[in-house]
Amino acid sequence: MSQQAFIGPGNLEHVKEIIESHQARKILLVTGKDSYVQPGVKDALSPFLTGSEVIRFCDFTPNPKLEDAQAGIRLINEAQPDIVIAIGGGSVIDMGKLIVILSAQAEKNSEKVVLNQDLVRTKGLPFVAIPTTAGTGSEATHFAVVYIENVKYSLAHDYILPDYAIVDSLLTHKVPSHIIASCSMDALTQAIESYWSVGSTEESKAYASRAIKMILPVVKSVHEEDSKAKEIMAEAAYLSGKAINITKTTASHAISYPITTYFNVPHGHAVALLLGKFFVIHAEADEAEVTDKRGKIYLSQVMSDLISMFGCDRARDCCKQWYETMAEIGLQTDLQVIGINTDSDVQLIASKVSLERLNNNPVKVTREMLHNLLLVSWVSYS
Ligand code: NAD
Repeated sequence: MSQQAFIGPGNLEHVKEIIESHQARKILLVTGKDSYVQPGVKDALSPFLTGSEVIRFCDFTPNPKLEDAQAGIRLINEAQPDIVIAIGGGSVIDMGKLIVILSAQAEKNSEKVVLNQDLVRTKGLPFVAIPTTAGTGSEATHFAVVYIENVKYSLAHDYILPDYAIVDSLLTHKVPSHIIASCSMDALTQAIESYWSVGSTEESKAYASRAIKMILPVVKSVHEEDSKAKEIMAEAAYLSGKAINITKTTASHAISYPITTYFNVPHGHAVALLLGKFFVIHAEADEAEVTDKRGKIYLSQVMSDLISMFGCDRARDCCKQWYETMAEIGLQTDLQVIGINTDSDVQLIASKVSLERLNNNPVKVTREMLHNLLLVSWVSYS
């Protein structure tokens, strides 16, 4: 599946020609409840929707749940739109992907489809993804995150890649700074994870390293009124999405989902919490611990590339820099303050971790490692 992408400030206007090219008279618009109205996203988009009937679907909370998606599927079936446009954060874009793909399948039990992606046989309606946060890169990926009874699943299929991605950084200008901080670390984390993933290729590493090199100089200023930094971050988030579209993510993401679900930590903040420690784990792993088929020497080169992108000499310095950056942009780094304190907290998280993403990690994650990751301060890794 290919995608047409429009990247850069002002590119929202391409919505008009996309709608015209599909002769779309009826549009299903997937949005956040408040984020669509409050920060002027609606004002920016509305002029391009005139002449079409617009039905809005916003009845869901962040981190899409299957029961909410089912309401969206019913709406698509009733309304029979010509095109679906999702405009919002990663949750909104994932919700758009879910309802477009699930409504198109002959198998009407959507839980069965999420659990067995071989049941995806048909492409859905034309789908436009327009991020209003700069972080997830969901507009560039062929998978959608969905929660069923607090367990995270990722529905993946080529048909899920949005037909169009419009990345217009002007839409991110009013995002509050705590959300910017979390989203920026999501983009950076997934680019780093993609770079060291066992599934990396020359192409994915090129997207990932471009994203990392773009994000590092702006990560501390992007929450200020710096439109150039926001433009760079929006494009870098898209590139980090292109990178994980090839590799998927690794252990830091795998462990983050139960942290989000049970300790109420926003997605980008949760994925960043353990990433710094993995610099050290990966750089100091023995041959026997390395799971990447390319071996220890290859992984050492990957880690040395990353360490030099950070301008450091040692993995332990990267780790220190990582958590200092988090603290500087207002993200809590102390897992005890977040509420992860005991062995039973570790057990809860371990019991819900996605093994698929864990297996993408270049070093085997043992139970002892998980215990140290969650209960030992980052300071002892630096
Ligand atoms: P989000 O979509 O949950 O939004 C976070 C908050 O930002 C919400 O309260 C929302 O209302 C607000 N918001 C969004 N746009 C805004 C704007 N312009 N102004 C003001 N507020 C705004 O958060 P996110 O970090 O963008 O997305 C996280 C979700 O994306 C998670 O569910 C994660 O699993 C998923 N994800 C998916 C992929 C993928 O490839 N499918 C990749 C990474 C993450």
